[in-house]
Amino acid sequence: MANKVTPATGKSTSDGSSSPMLDLMKTYVKSKFSYNAKPLTNAKVTNVQQEHYAYQIDIWTLMECRTKKKINQPYNNETIANEGNRNEWDFDFERPAIDAKTKKTEVRNLDQTRWTNICLKCSGFNRYACSSCKGDGGKPCYHCKIKALTDNGLGSKKPCKYCNDSGVIHCLKCKSTGLVECTSCKGCGKILHYYQLSVKWYTIHSVSYLTNTELPPKIIHKAPDKKSISITDQKWSKTDSIEKYFQTAFASQQKNPPIKLEQLTEDFNKKHVTKAKKNCRIVQMKCEIQKLDVTEVEYESEGFKNKHDPKMGDKFKFYYYGKGKKDQPMIYENDYPMNACGCCGVGCAHHSKLCTIS
Ligand SMILES: [Zn+2]
Ligand SMILES: [Zn+2]
Ligand SMILES: [Zn+2]
Repeated sequence: MANKVTPATGKSTSDGSSSPMLDLMKTYVKSKFSYNAKPLTNAKVTNVQQEHYAYQIDIWTLMECRTKKKINQPYNNETIANEGNRNEWDFDFERPAIDAKTKKTEVRNLDQTRWTNICLKCSGFNRYACSSCKGDGGKPCYHCKIKALTDNGLGSKKPCKYCNDSGVIHCLKCKSTGLVECTSCKGCGKILHYYQLSVKWYTIHSVSYLTNTELPPKIIHKAPDKKSISITDQKWSKTDSIEKYFQTAFASQQKNPPIKLEQLTEDFNKKHVTKAKKNCRIVQMKCEIQKLDVTEVEYESEGFKNKHDPKMGDKFKFYYYGKGKKDQPMIYENDYPMNACGCCGVGCAHHSKLCTIS
């Protein structure tokens, strides 16, 4: 409230009652179905302040998450680079655009991390005893055994169909060898190990508002007269400071009254930094700042009381924030004295033009 008082611009009258600002308010009130224009008839503009602002700050951060997984597979004479185990962030990947709506994932085998071990399952012997025949290659024929026990001496001329009278049933699993190829190393005796890196990208978008007016975020968001004052898209790392970024971005803006940037920093930390899960980093940051010029107008309307703020007495205020799509003045107020009379019921608090209550 400590700002300079600018005389109402345009045709100046001693009492300020025909100021262009008041005309804008009259147009606004006329457009509102439930508003009565009476309080403006003899109203006078008492203060016009132009040092008001409303900024909309859109921020996109590209999150990159890297996870490493150990892969084990039979060794197949792959070359061993012997580069050791590097940090997962040491590898370069092509990043998607920051405003891409779809998530992207890329998986890469880190061949440079390869190493080998003796196969633990077969101890490097390539094979192990067949579990089916316990290494014997077969088992005695059950049917021949039964036949022998129940033989009535007459004998049977038919050979045993199960073992062909050999007395042994051969093991199919190991082809009677008693050994099977090691499934872990596929018979090579060695296991190859390496790391597989999965990289996932997704974008977080946030909108913050900064204003020294009473304009609610929704109004700022919808205001058609915003102007983009800065747009950047840059690489981002832990060492980058968002405070410094905002200081630079707002450097060209008016300093009086000062623009409080702490809220923006806090917003950024809350909506982006803390959202980065384990193994995730912010790798790109895009920011667009839009400015809405706002004029605060205070007017006096004798015989009316400010119910919203009793300290104001018979004074009221509104914010003018440019023109709408149909060239109409964009006004925000929350203390207009005659915006509803209740003539049409509580559910429809509408100030009828015929209403006699004042
Ligand atoms: Zn048999
Ligand atoms: Zn076997
Ligand atoms: Zn093995």
